[in-house]
Amino acid sequence: MSSVLLYDTTLRDGTQREGISFSVVDKLHIARKLDELGVHFIEGGWPGSNPKDVEFFDKAQSLLFSHSRLVAFGSTRRPGAKAEKDANLLALADAGVDVVTVVGKNSALQVTQVLETTLEENLSMIADSIRYLKAKGLTVFFDAEHFFDGFKTDSDYALRCLTVAAEAGADCLVLCDTNGGTLPDEIMAAVEAAGGVSDVPLGIHAHNDAELAVANTLAAVKAGVGQIQGTINGYGERCGNTNLCSIIPDLKLKMGIDCVTDEQLAELTEVSHYVSEVANLVPDTFLPYVGSSAFSHKGGFHVSAMAKWEGSYQHIDPTQVGNRRRVLVSELSGKRSIIYKAKEAGLDLSLSGKDAQKLLDQVKLLESRGFQYDNAEASFELLIQRAKPDYQPPFELVDFMVVVEKRRRLPTRESLEESLSEAMVKVRVGTEIMHTVAEGNGPVNALDQALRKALLKFYPSLAQVKLVDYKVRILEESTGTESQVRVFIESSDGVDEWRTVGSSANIIEASWLALADGLEYWLLKQKTRLSG
Ligand SMILES: [Zn+2]
Repeated sequence: MSSVLLYDTTLRDGTQREGISFSVVDKLHIARKLDELGVHFIEGGWPGSNPKDVEFFDKAQSLLFSHSRLVAFGSTRRPGAKAEKDANLLALADAGVDVVTVVGKNSALQVTQVLETTLEENLSMIADSIRYLKAKGLTVFFDAEHFFDGFKTDSDYALRCLTVAAEAGADCLVLCDTNGGTLPDEIMAAVEAAGGVSDVPLGIHAHNDAELAVANTLAAVKAGVGQIQGTINGYGERCGNTNLCSIIPDLKLKMGIDCVTDEQLAELTEVSHYVSEVANLVPDTFLPYVGSSAFSHKGGFHVSAMAKWEGSYQHIDPTQVGNRRRVLVSELSGKRSIIYKAKEAGLDLSLSGKDAQKLLDQVKLLESRGFQYDNAEASFELLIQRAKPDYQPPFELVDFMVVVEKRRRLPTRESLEESLSEAMVKVRVGTEIMHTVAEGNGPVNALDQALRKALLKFYPSLAQVKLVDYKVRILEESTGTESQVRVFIESSDGVDEWRTVGSSANIIEASWLALADGLEYWLLKQKTRLSG
């Protein structure tokens, strides 16, 4: 199979996703990660449309990429204007890169209804813009906007746009499913027709509105496309773009196309988490290949099969994409998953059938009290550790107290009411007892602050651990405020994430249990890392 070039647009189309806003520094960090991953082109932004992107291209001059080439994005000249006077094209030529992508309309309807110009003028806009940029010595990719929709309603015009772009010197014709509603067989037919108009290589830019971005991209590759555009985690306008975290392993592991090296592929999970972290989005655990649930096994039957043969319920070896297998523990699973899980936790004590049964009984008892270990593997590992007679916890709670106070400071109603939370925590570390007080914007936050304050003196590296997600679930809805609550906490040290659980009739206590497990788990991991 021919080679495929990867084109990332996380920094341009990716930022179109609701809720994402990258600073210039964020963009520079992500660009460096993408280079490590080995993508061939990194689209940095649209210098003609906003000053932040101008600053990015300015600063990006100092980045030395080992694999990637930086690309600036812009549109064709405006109707009735001259290319050499068009501010957007001038900004592209001045971006300090040697590759640019210029987007132009390929749908007759879009030209007359939205652009409100003639079909002929649109063709001139495409030709003039590409010629202008080529005369500057640049590599020019042409993004054929709405190509597939245009092909459906007026295929002659859509193909004519491509011919004009090819004749003007475009180095790649990127066919865009801008509205994301095309089906894979339609993609293949249109790509084949596009291949007939010139010898210029083709590319594909797909959106996920019909949940087909990855499938459509694969179909386009089968039909002969050589450049594929996408974003990390599929971030992008509306429902997103082609997810590079899925398409890269699809190409490499399923289709045998060496678009990245084995080592780069093994970075994939880390890159996915890194970008979601910078985007300030909780990583989607159910993402194929890179999600933490992608290789998790829950049913006891599956787990026992996995113990016999790794491939029995996995389509690839998770380490190929830098992910790992997880075994979930719940009432559903049997003794075998407990043994498997203990092994996974690197426990030297080999649990005999009887010990495993004891542990399973304990899990069942705790689950009946509202704990759930499916998605709280860190709490489960602690449960196993604590079952060992020589277990030394890194800290122990003596007691805590939380005060929540609602004050009205000034007589106006809405604006100046505030509530203050203060926590006092007493913990034992070795023989020492620490007594700390901290304030927070809520009781759990105050508790977290007070606990950290106490522990930082002994474990300064704990400062890297952040709480990234906090979820509360009411277990018996009918009993209202008297019901049992379950708290899930996700913590991160910037590299790994882990989940802990607490359950109690008291939300503060449930939170405390999950918080303390989160820190205790990390301290234990650090200890084994240092000693091992
Ligand atoms: Zn797009």
